[in-house]
Amino acid sequence: MKDVRLQFPILDRLVKDKPLVYLDNAATSQKPLAVIEALSHYYSHYNANIHRGIHTLAEEATAAYEATRYAVQDFIGAASVEEVIFTRGTTEAINLVAYTWGRQNIQAGDEIIISGMEHHSNIVPWQILCAEKSAVLKIIPVSDKGELSVQEYKALLSEKTKLVALVQVSNALGTVNPVKEMIEAAHQVGAKVLIDGAQSAVHLDIDVQQMDCDFFAFSGHKVYGPTGVGVLYGKKELLEAMPVFQGGGEMIKEVSFERTTYNELPYKYEAGTPNIADTIALKAALDFISGIGKEKIRKHEEALLAYATAELSAIPGLEIVGQAKEKVSLVSFNIKGIHPQDIGILLDNLGIAVRTGHHCTQPLMKRFGIPGTVRASFALYNQQEEIDVLVAGLHKTIKMLS
Ligand code: PMP
Repeated sequence: MKDVRLQFPILDRLVKDKPLVYLDNAATSQKPLAVIEALSHYYSHYNANIHRGIHTLAEEATAAYEATRYAVQDFIGAASVEEVIFTRGTTEAINLVAYTWGRQNIQAGDEIIISGMEHHSNIVPWQILCAEKSAVLKIIPVSDKGELSVQEYKALLSEKTKLVALVQVSNALGTVNPVKEMIEAAHQVGAKVLIDGAQSAVHLDIDVQQMDCDFFAFSGHKVYGPTGVGVLYGKKELLEAMPVFQGGGEMIKEVSFERTTYNELPYKYEAGTPNIADTIALKAALDFISGIGKEKIRKHEEALLAYATAELSAIPGLEIVGQAKEKVSLVSFNIKGIHPQDIGILLDNLGIAVRTGHHCTQPLMKRFGIPGTVRASFALYNQQEEIDVLVAGLHKTIKMLS
């Protein structure tokens, strides 16, 4: 996998005169040349607004934009291309469901279940909805190891449950949740399930039909694609029955002052000029992943995780937060007596990029009684040597600060 680094020009840069060691991939991954070139090629060759034009540039841009929809369909195993809605990212995809399906289907006294390890973007939209509808938000507890108990989850399910919104892979702990089993249990009580795939889409094989989730959300920028584009997958019959989200151009069939009719799927949920360039470049990212193969990537990342876990555990005073049996590609940790932010600053001086803080999971940090963690998260271009640099940096940090 060393050759793959050549595809990522940013990995060659220096930070504070040191070679960059980029271990903040769970926040956003770096972009391969294919993605950078797809963006530049669009703007320098066929920039045009899509869907409405009959001129050549508009046709080319429309074809490229729609080609990404097919690539996404393939990437997540959706039954139909109409089930792929482009959004700004995971956050907007979840909010779309909360504002449309949620407003239509949640009544007073209904229950929505989320877990204690959700990202704020899979908490706050449901809190807003529950407050508006006098519905109840229930939380699946997180164990000391950073896992969800399926048994405790099942005890929360009842005929009052209308929706379960679950993260497939925790961005703060790396835990992989048993979503298939949890979806099946939710369906038994008639609830719908939304899966937050922001972290899972890049690491795991995603097959929404096999998973049988009702909604699935992910962001382009975490799968080696551009920022500003993401995906909402929804089962066709749900998307068809849901009310519209934003009103404007493209999402309509016919507008008159008396009555407006709405467009077919997927355009019904894509009002206004979309993020054409980034959506087109997302296909380059998905092609890049499939060109290498998820299986090969997974093996490489598994080896990095095992190595990092062993090496970091050996550092005196270092405690790994989140020791789930099923984990992917990140290690969250604290070092006794040192604030995570101080560690982050000193590592940056050595050219090492990690994330520190609550990782947009404040309730989870509260559950562990900590202000935050240091998080090192890995991607396909990371190397074992970079973990050695991190470990050496941590030893230096400890020497300086304790
Ligand atoms: N959910 C999880 C688990 C995440 O890690 C993130 C991004 N940190 C989000 C949701 C939100 O994604 P975005 O900011 O791209 O909308």
